[in-house]
Amino acid sequence: MSDHAQAKPGERWKQLDVRHHLNPFSNYRELKKSEGGSRIIERAEGVRLWDADGNEFLDGMSGLWCVQVGYGRREITEAVTRQMEQLPYYNSFFKTTTPPTVELAEALARLTRPGLDRVFFGSSGSESNDTVVRLVRWYNHVRGRPEKNQFISRQFGYHGSTMTGASLGGLAGMQTAYGLPLPGFHHVIPPYSFQFANEGESDEAFGLRAARSLEEKILEIGPENVAGFVAEPVMGAGGVIVPPATYWPEISRICQEHDVLLIADEVICGFGRTGAWFGYETYDFSPDLMTLAKGITSGYLPLSAVMVSEAICQTLEEEGGEFAHGYTYSGHPTACAAALANLHLLEDGIVERCAAEIAPHFQRRVRTLADHPMVGEVRGVGMLAGVELVRSQESREPWDDRGTAGGMTRDACLRNGVIVRAIRDTMALAPPLVTQTDDIDKMVSGLEQALDEVHYALRA
Ligand code: PMP
Repeated sequence: MSDHAQAKPGERWKQLDVRHHLNPFSNYRELKKSEGGSRIIERAEGVRLWDADGNEFLDGMSGLWCVQVGYGRREITEAVTRQMEQLPYYNSFFKTTTPPTVELAEALARLTRPGLDRVFFGSSGSESNDTVVRLVRWYNHVRGRPEKNQFISRQFGYHGSTMTGASLGGLAGMQTAYGLPLPGFHHVIPPYSFQFANEGESDEAFGLRAARSLEEKILEIGPENVAGFVAEPVMGAGGVIVPPATYWPEISRICQEHDVLLIADEVICGFGRTGAWFGYETYDFSPDLMTLAKGITSGYLPLSAVMVSEAICQTLEEEGGEFAHGYTYSGHPTACAAALANLHLLEDGIVERCAAEIAPHFQRRVRTLADHPMVGEVRGVGMLAGVELVRSQESREPWDDRGTAGGMTRDACLRNGVIVRAIRDTMALAPPLVTQTDDIDKMVSGLEQALDEVHYALRA
């Protein structure tokens, strides 16, 4: 018998993974050397996952911040099956489209703020952010302002892995070796008070200062050259960075004053994650465009969208020619059917109940970790939380060896059956919106126990 036939299925998949699969965001040298190989997730139900070795996990990260309604929702799988049988695929190019595509466009127009009534579909957050850059450059070209083509975003921002997404993003590790950012992309400081505020500077004062770094950058580049500011309402993959209350109002003022489009990347914040339907509602601002993905289908199928303001669409309709942009899977009917079924569930009380009961419980519970000697700050909103680890709680001193304590804590959580993410030394949590309060308690206790273990190990 061959090696493959003898191995248990889990072992076989791990071997195949190492031999043939290039996993995203992975260190291939480490992966090859690591004992055990990759974790093979085989099955899920509700907020629980099982790997091929039979271990059970509570999913404190909703996959990658996306499984709002939990796993195993028949309403979605049945809608997908029906659509697959009727019309699995057709495209939306060249004056054609499909019923689920336009039904979903209408639903998104209804759910988002008045004036954001048009949708351009893609299959990923990265694609949608690329669409934003191309659409806005085209818009400025059409209205005779082709030089207004530069974009500003923030250090620690995450906007995807394509060349444009990674240029908008502010993570050095995604740029240095790759010749990025592309020309025309600029970055300002994030509203990250724990790391960027001066000693004695209040949160409110820091929020204004962080926002004004945008104004300084606009003036430096020249407002006539700046097309848009792209930002997540709450920064997710950069470390769950929750802005001070003064930040977004000042950003809105600056964008308006300098005729710079305000573009909300709601890929994580959308669909109930921050305790409202969208992050711009939680922070009370009014984006000109926004990108959506992840929670739009709860991750059941790949889909993303760009919501575009009527004002922009009017110019394109009246003055533009063809928008030479689109993806084979733009408006994919089966993905749109999954989204419609998912939105139905979210509208049928999930977002509301999460905001009223589950998210407040989650925020209360996770804040109890603030007393732990490893914890410098607990921040969060809705069903998002970041627990930033420090070497000394008194001085808020970070670890010299950034990421080690975070990685150890994540691994200890896994051993305790809870999936959390480590972003440098911030532990990120983003549970499904349907997580019951007793499971939230288990997630937080799992993290607390992991912190005890790591605290002991690092002091020993
Ligand atoms: N924007 C934000 C805010 C994200 O968090 C992500 C993914 N984590 C993206 C864009 C990119 O989405 P995708 O991975 O679907 O391309």
